[in-house]
Amino acid sequence: MKSIYFLCLNMIRFVPYAYGFLQNYARLDEKISKNYTWEEPFCILEPVKMIVEKIHDPDFLFLSCYVWNHNQQMEIAKRVKKKYPECKVICGGPHIPDLSDSYFSQYPFADVLVHGEGEIPVRNLLLEYIEKTPDLNKVKGISFNVGSKAVKTGVSGKLSKDLPVPSPYLNGLFDSFFNKDSTNKIGLWETNRGCPFSCCFCDWGVRTTNKIRLHSMQRISQEIEWFGQNKIEDIYITDANFGLLERDLEIAELLVACKKKYDFPKRIRIQFAKKFNTIVFEISRLLFENQMLWGTTLSMQSVDLNVLKAIKRPHVGIDNYKKAKEKYKAYNIPTYTELILGLPLETKKSFMEGICTLFDIGMHDDFRMFELVLLPNAPLFQDDMRKEYGLHTKMKPVRRNDPGCEKEYVELVFGTSTMPVEDWEYCFVFSETAQALHNGGYTRFVARYLKENNILSYYDFYNNFLKYMLHSDSESSKAFNRVKKLINAFYNDPDMPQINRVLTQPDMAGFLGTFNPKRKGWQLWTYIWLWISMNTDGFYMELFNFIKDQGVIMNETIEDLMQYQKEIMLALDYDPLSGKEVHYKFNWFDYFYNDQILKKEPTILKYNDKRMGASYQYGLEKNDKKKFITAAIGFSYPYSKFRHFFHQFEKTEIIKVN
Ligand code: SF4
Repeated sequence: MKSIYFLCLNMIRFVPYAYGFLQNYARLDEKISKNYTWEEPFCILEPVKMIVEKIHDPDFLFLSCYVWNHNQQMEIAKRVKKKYPECKVICGGPHIPDLSDSYFSQYPFADVLVHGEGEIPVRNLLLEYIEKTPDLNKVKGISFNVGSKAVKTGVSGKLSKDLPVPSPYLNGLFDSFFNKDSTNKIGLWETNRGCPFSCCFCDWGVRTTNKIRLHSMQRISQEIEWFGQNKIEDIYITDANFGLLERDLEIAELLVACKKKYDFPKRIRIQFAKKFNTIVFEISRLLFENQMLWGTTLSMQSVDLNVLKAIKRPHVGIDNYKKAKEKYKAYNIPTYTELILGLPLETKKSFMEGICTLFDIGMHDDFRMFELVLLPNAPLFQDDMRKEYGLHTKMKPVRRNDPGCEKEYVELVFGTSTMPVEDWEYCFVFSETAQALHNGGYTRFVARYLKENNILSYYDFYNNFLKYMLHSDSESSKAFNRVKKLINAFYNDPDMPQINRVLTQPDMAGFLGTFNPKRKGWQLWTYIWLWISMNTDGFYMELFNFIKDQGVIMNETIEDLMQYQKEIMLALDYDPLSGKEVHYKFNWFDYFYNDQILKKEPTILKYNDKRMGASYQYGLEKNDKKKFITAAIGFSYPYSKFRHFFHQFEKTEIIKVN
């Protein structure tokens, strides 16, 4: 028997899905079942030395390579090959370039690269290696190493439309994985494979080449039953566009029925169809009403039409987003959108206006900004597109290095022909500011009032306020300048990692550590939010002065609004046992939450929050900093901005005076 070891390392303990699929498909062939044993896969990032020591007499070492594990896995492979020169190193996964010419000169210890969908080439490869004199030329879909030069074998066939791979959940392949650890049960789950789109920054659409293939409904319902019986808490649906097919609603109904029967799964994470439709809405409503969904993505990437065309992203027009947002709002279903900074043809103005357009159409709760990463198999990676859009990139470490681990790098876009680096930096600060202040609530209600009454647009409010704070020397403004400095340092410092940049800065890490020294993930906007939470009076003094500077007449309404804005924010000294009562002269609650006209109407609002978070999962306790930040800003992964930051309308009691 030949032994197969498998690496699919990750920071988070995800089920080894690629391992399950490749093994199950290969073992359909009896010859493979008889000739190979599959060792337990390595899923969690550990020092290179530790993993190498756990590998004994391997015949094959398979690597499932992504941007976050490639170098670590290659170093392990290098050392394993040195120790066991006969071991064949087989590399696959999205990070393995289709253009493989120089790969083996960089990694001469690698034997074979598997390109694209792995099941068929891996099965054929294993069959060929059973032969006395294997001829790898016969195996389509690979490159193999001949004297550090790549010999490419041509395109492999793909799995047929019924995806004939036995379920690794149902045949017990993952039993030991889930039994080992009773907590943190996250199941990856594919109900279909393929994407009909081909966004140029993504390597998925082009790799799965358009046709969507489906797992049978029978298999799906059996897997759902398995999730319930095995108490799997979180399901991450890996489909590129869940909700594109009518049957997806049926799948959601089965998931809900399973939760009702077993109380599991608790949460479903979904990448919804890019063109939202009634199926996506019905799925969202169903899952949300059963507390299984933390929000629906109304996908964008950019709000600018020229940018969307350049990146070949499906889009539906801002008016349709607005309608969709209103529909979700009517059922209180949280929505969020994702933007990418540095896309072709995006400018400083279009990016900032894009964020403000989201606010204009009522998407106040949650947008997320990501930096543009060039992935080796994405069209944007290729020279012609780089030149066409003037992409200025640098290699950056993905994260801080754990001792004994290799550094991983990503190629990040820091500028384009339409967005020079200084604009990129400003847009970054602007985006973090907008997330902290508008999503995070510190200025949301003031900004809304000024916009809705045609006094100040969101663009002028946030752009001018950011500039105002960057020129201020007050204590509360320090966070903005600090984040600006950090982003500039990120551009210039080749060693600063992309993830958790703040923890590389002793002053920032020290400040955040006073809340929770053990927490691992901090986004930049959370630093701004928490800084303000410790300097609230000063911050609102600055806000007051700023709007006065903008020519806003400071009257009774604005003063009452300022009080409403300040008091609605969650504060460290809020006592959930007694709640908080505040008197207002105007009907702010009805104005903001019930679409009523603003009028003078003395009102007492009683804030009664005891727990925060999308499923009210985080308790509050007066002056407990650790509990405060978890309740106020949530966790970094998985995260949701829903039901954080400020007192929630559904827990507020309104008492009209008179
Ligand atoms: S980003 Fe999503 S929609 Fe676009 S090609 Fe990739 S998987 Fe498909």
